[in-house]
Amino acid sequence: MKAFTTDLLVQGFREFVVPPSKTVGDTTRQRIKFSDDRVCKSHLLNCCPHDVLSGTRMDLGECLKVHDLALRADYEIASKDQDFFFELDAMDHLQSFIADCDRRTEVAKKRLAETQEEISAEVAAKAERVHELNEEIGKLLAKVEQLGADGNVEESQKVMDEVEKARVKKREAEEVYRNSMPASSFQQQKLRVCEVCSAYLGLHDNDRRLADHFGGKLHLGFIEIREKLEELRRIVADKQEKRNQERLKRREEREREEREKLRRLIKVQHSTWYHQ
Ligand SMILES: [Zn+2]
Ligand SMILES: [Zn+2]
Repeated sequence: MKAFTTDLLVQGFREFVVPPSKTVGDTTRQRIKFSDDRVCKSHLLNCCPHDVLSGTRMDLGECLKVHDLALRADYEIASKDQDFFFELDAMDHLQSFIADCDRRTEVAKKRLAETQEEISAEVAAKAERVHELNEEIGKLLAKVEQLGADGNVEESQKVMDEVEKARVKKREAEEVYRNSMPASSFQQQKLRVCEVCSAYLGLHDNDRRLADHFGGKLHLGFIEIREKLEELRRIVADKQEKRNQERLKRREEREREEREKLRRLIKVQHSTWYHQ
């Protein structure tokens, strides 16, 4: 009997204090509109870094603002009739995210410069050439894999031929680099920081690593975010330009109307004068 009462009490308490989570979600959705300050505008425009980089090494966890696909659907419908200019919010968000990332890249580069053996500008340029070819090979291999996955065998073979050509060039560039220094130095892994995603790249990385990096979710996610930021900047600049022109047009119209009014007024005064 006692146990029964306690159970009932606990149950009652739970119902009172802790509503089932589904109800919380539903009421939030009813309460909040997509235009609410708490809603992530980048999510509405499908470019929040928290979404794009989820599941990568740089997973940012949950966004501080509300993400809800139902709100995005509401926004997409409503934005057909009205311009909410959320591109500006999203641009600010992505801009500060990318600025943070670029700062990290600069710090990593500085750290590398301090820890890696000093090499002359001439040798550095030779190493840079190998890095460039690594990047080319990595991108091509990622393309080959994508084409293969899409079942596009013929095209993937063509790209594979380009990989072969780049490999030949890379072997030559490595030879040039190797001849410019003692053997022991050549063995040392020369690192570089990827300007896109700030990951470390090795001069002697093998094909697998190159393809994994340049075709990986992290690097591609950063390309996506950077491209989206460029697009948002263009849209925001266009819209601001349009708004400025509209404002200017409205002002000119207003001034014209006022001049017109004044002219009419003067005319009336003149005529009453004349008739007096
Ligand atoms: Zn977000
Ligand atoms: Zn990268």
